[in-house]
Amino acid sequence: MSLVAGPGRGGLGDGQFSQNPKLCVDKHVAYIQSLDQRRDELDYWLTEHLRVSGIYWGLTALHLLGHPDALPRDDLLKYIISCFCDDGGFGAAPGHDSHMLYTLSAVQVLVTLDALEEFEQQIPRGKDKIGRFIADLQNRESGTFAGDRWGEEDTRFMFAGLLALSLLHLKHLVDIDKCVQYVKSCQNFDGAYGVSPGAESHSARVYTCVGTLALAGRLDAADTDALAGWLSERQLPNGGLNGRPEKLEDVCYSWWVLSSMAMIGRLHWIDKDRLTSFIFQCQDPENGGIADRPGDMVDVFHTHFGLAGLSLLGQPGLAEVDPTYCMPKQVVERVLNG
Ligand SMILES: [Zn+2]
Repeated sequence: MSLVAGPGRGGLGDGQFSQNPKLCVDKHVAYIQSLDQRRDELDYWLTEHLRVSGIYWGLTALHLLGHPDALPRDDLLKYIISCFCDDGGFGAAPGHDSHMLYTLSAVQVLVTLDALEEFEQQIPRGKDKIGRFIADLQNRESGTFAGDRWGEEDTRFMFAGLLALSLLHLKHLVDIDKCVQYVKSCQNFDGAYGVSPGAESHSARVYTCVGTLALAGRLDAADTDALAGWLSERQLPNGGLNGRPEKLEDVCYSWWVLSSMAMIGRLHWIDKDRLTSFIFQCQDPENGGIADRPGDMVDVFHTHFGLAGLSLLGQPGLAEVDPTYCMPKQVVERVLNG
C-alpha cells in the first residue's frame, strides 16, 4: 500500500469549492486500489516505514465504503505475515524492527480479514507471542507503554497495546488499573489530555487517553463535561476541527475529536452538517482520495480518517465505524463476541 500523497488535491483546485458536494464512493475505492500500483515512484519506497499502517488505513476505508474485497486478500495476508518478527511484534515492512504501532495495525488487519487462524497456522502460538511482545513493553511502575525496545513512552503506545490485546482477548496480560491511573495523571485542568503528565492538551492524545479508559471500562474517570467543552471548541467557522487552540483545521482531527466525543456520549456537541461539508470539500471529486484540508494533496491516511469521521457523523452509504477501535463496527462485534 503506497503512502504517496496525491496526485489529486482536495476540492476542485484553485481554491474553488463544489457547490453541491457529495460522497464520491466509487472514486475513493478506485483511488485506494490504485495505491499499490505506484512502486516505480521514489516516494513509494520513502514511505516504506509506514507500509503496514497504510494497509490498515486502506483496508478499513474500503470496508467503510462497502467494498471490503476490493484489495486482494491473499496478498495482504501474506504481506502482513512477512512483517512478523521473532520477538512477537510486527515491523512496518519486511525486515524492519518491531514497533507497537505497526503491531497494532497488523492485528487490526488480521482481525478485519478474519485471518487470525491462518496466521496461527503459519506462526504457531502467534497470538500469545504478540501478547507477550506487547505486555513486555508496559512500564509496570507507571502503567504506560514504550513503543519498542528502545523505550520511548507515549500514551499512543499504551492505547495501541490495549487495543491490540483487546482484539486478541489478551488484556489480562497487562496491569489495566495502572493504565487508568496514568491516564488520570495526564488530565489537565481543562478536562483534556496531553502526551504525558503536565503536557499541553492535544486532540490526538485525548483520543488515546479516552480510548484507554473505554477499553478499561473506566470512562467514569474522565471529566466528561469539561472535556466535551474543550473538544467542541476545536470546531472552526469553516466547520473543520483543529488539534488544539490556535491551530489550523485538519481532516484527521475530525476523527480524533469526534471519536472521543462519541465515546463519552457528547457527539451532539459538534455541528455535524458543517463538519460533513468541510470533509466533503477535502475530497478529490475526480480521482478520489481525501486531503487534510481543501487544496492540499490527498493521501490514504486522511482518506481513512475522513471516511471514519463521516461514518461517525452518520453519513448514508458508509458502514458504521467503532469509535474506540477505528474499525468497522461489524468486525469489532464479531471479534469481541466471538
Ligand atoms: Zn492530518
